[in-house]
Amino acid sequence: MPSAYEAFHKAIREIGQLGSIEGLLDWDSETIMPDGGLSARAEQISLIATLAHERRTSPTLGELIEQLDSRVDDPIEQSNVSEARRMYERASRVPAELVTRLSRVSVLAKEAWGKARAGSDFPAFAPHLSELVNIKRHIADLIGYKGERYDALLDEYEPGMTSAQVEEVFTALRGPLCEFVRRLAHAPRKPDSSVLHRNFPRAAQESFARHLAEAIGFDFSRGRLDVSKHPFCGGTGPADVRLTTRYYEDFIAPSVFGVLHEAGHGIYEQGLPEAHMFTPAGQAVSLGIHESQSRLWENFVGRSREFWEGMYGACQRAFPDALGSVSLDAFHGAINTVSPSLIRVEADEVTYNLHIILRFEIERALIGGTLEVRDIPAAWNGKMRELLGVSPPNDAQGCLQDIHWSAGMFGYFPTYALGNLYAAQFFEAALRAIPNLRDELRRGQFAPLLAWLRENIHQHGMRYRAGELVHRVTGAPLTVEPFLRYIRTKFAPIYGLNIT
Ligand code: ZN
Repeated sequence: MPSAYEAFHKAIREIGQLGSIEGLLDWDSETIMPDGGLSARAEQISLIATLAHERRTSPTLGELIEQLDSRVDDPIEQSNVSEARRMYERASRVPAELVTRLSRVSVLAKEAWGKARAGSDFPAFAPHLSELVNIKRHIADLIGYKGERYDALLDEYEPGMTSAQVEEVFTALRGPLCEFVRRLAHAPRKPDSSVLHRNFPRAAQESFARHLAEAIGFDFSRGRLDVSKHPFCGGTGPADVRLTTRYYEDFIAPSVFGVLHEAGHGIYEQGLPEAHMFTPAGQAVSLGIHESQSRLWENFVGRSREFWEGMYGACQRAFPDALGSVSLDAFHGAINTVSPSLIRVEADEVTYNLHIILRFEIERALIGGTLEVRDIPAAWNGKMRELLGVSPPNDAQGCLQDIHWSAGMFGYFPTYALGNLYAAQFFEAALRAIPNLRDELRRGQFAPLLAWLRENIHQHGMRYRAGELVHRVTGAPLTVEPFLRYIRTKFAPIYGLNIT
């Protein structure tokens, strides 16, 4: 007779396995599946999702969680039980018909969104979006919340985080960030990014991207790098991590920084404890913490002067025609140009968070019921002017640019900015813990930083919630100061500004 914990462990492990099978099916359809496989794949994914939902809401699992809740004292077991409870409650409070309705509505909404964006026709998408907002509001009410309705949706992506906490950090960020963007716009020096748009042969990009991922610590004996339209990091667990990227022969940045970004996600996955694979104890804390790992390698390391002091020679050898006569300073400036723009995914690391603040304010108001769907374009354009000083010429380059809302994903956007803030705070802590870290980066030695991340973040899986983890690792709660210090210290010299 297995103990209650053993029975519970087997049940949640199988739920995790179903999720990882779904992830692999997704990876395959994004990378190598022929178009003809689409409808069979949709059926397979839908079956796996149904099975996982049944398991997640099974009354037997509910009883086991009840039984174990106050009786486990091992921290690993505790994190499994408390996360399973969160999953169970979220899933069992929403009736299966509503889940099916949401997925049906979002399939149609995604299609309508694609067409509406192509024709820059927001009114054509608006009825779909209204229906999704209504369903998500209903779901949030069923799940329940302490503060406001949006909290119930945010909790799906950033467990434990509330709208009030997000608002607090975004409010602290907003003013100083807008001010700094204005100062950069009037700076005496402006880097030139045109060198990134020369001819970069694809084969050389592929081998350089692989070299970068390997150099920072991505283990190719337990992972792969392939090509997809939208880059992502997937796979089945720490020993099988799948990265993807894309290559443009007339623009080097997407493959170099895309791969550093996805490899950052992948390095986190590879560092999760394999002994707890498929269970919460072996999984990532939250989307925000996941994003902190990708941003840390992409930006804090990968766009730093030290990184390229060690790496630029190899880069010039990989692309002699394009970069042979470009100085390190010119290259470092080019990869660090800041300019307020319309499109989030093309934004630099200074303006990026402003794009997120805008989306958070709009979706929070939509879910809270203080903004109507038809008023989104006006709200969007007004906030773009206020935060970034630019005006979208049409909705395709404005409120129709992202896929998230058409997939019913409300509460997802804040995790991108939280990732940047967590990354800044972690990186400061790493610099304190490893006093010669900058020299190590200059020499292309990434192992000390990787070891620090493994020990402080990766190995814990889901043992701590994001807020608790940040506090433990950095000695302080989440704050915007490290991020503001980082951008000021980094960009002032590039732009010839004095920081006082
Ligand atoms: Zn990411």
